[in-house]
Amino acid sequence: MNHVALRNEIVATCRAMNALGLNQGTSGNVSVRAGDGFLLTPSGLDYASMEADDIVSMGFDGEYESERLPSTEWRIHRDVLAWRSEACAVIHAHPMCCTTLAIHGLPIPAIHYLVGLAGGSEIRCAPYATPTTQELSDVAIEALADRRACLLAHHGAIVIDDSAASALALLVEIENLAEQYWRALQLGEPPLLSETDMNAVQDILEGYGRQADPELRKV
Ligand code: 13P
Ligand code: ZN
Repeated sequence: MNHVALRNEIVATCRAMNALGLNQGTSGNVSVRAGDGFLLTPSGLDYASMEADDIVSMGFDGEYESERLPSTEWRIHRDVLAWRSEACAVIHAHPMCCTTLAIHGLPIPAIHYLVGLAGGSEIRCAPYATPTTQELSDVAIEALADRRACLLAHHGAIVIDDSAASALALLVEIENLAEQYWRALQLGEPPLLSETDMNAVQDILEGYGRQADPELRKV
């Protein structure tokens, strides 16, 4: 079996995603770039019983090798990975607070500096499109321009990153921001950070967690 470690990483990510309460049941799907194609979760298979050889290997032409049917959202994964050469993993999920905002078609504005983790001062919400269609992939791509996350109206969220593990970590942050926004809305329309404030944190967030600050000197 090819890419066993990546297949296992996908299965572990799916299980963690549900265990963390970021997704429910067989909703959602995960892909990771591999060779000249990508690996993708099968459609509608319970994550607890999913195994490495259930993961589907797919090419950018949509051809696949597997006993299992690929995720019905394979077009999103194919299109995002083909478009964003820097991205190695895509997660689509139905997190509760992201989806609550997306039901109202609400983007997540600059309520907190960590909104910048997604690459800008707003996490967009793509308009509704029928699940599994090319139209859904097209609106998602538009909402992901210069971003690593977006919401999908009446549906859920998408995150993209360097690996399945880092994409999952980003999804944790995005869902947390969605909950903070939802809670802040209970007290009225929240004040927002300015573009200047958001630009000021962008470089800090790019380097965050990479453990190499040249101005820090060890004594
Ligand atoms: P799959 O089980 O086919 O991946 O579909 C789940 C989903 O979230 C559809 O939008
Ligand atoms: Zn979905």
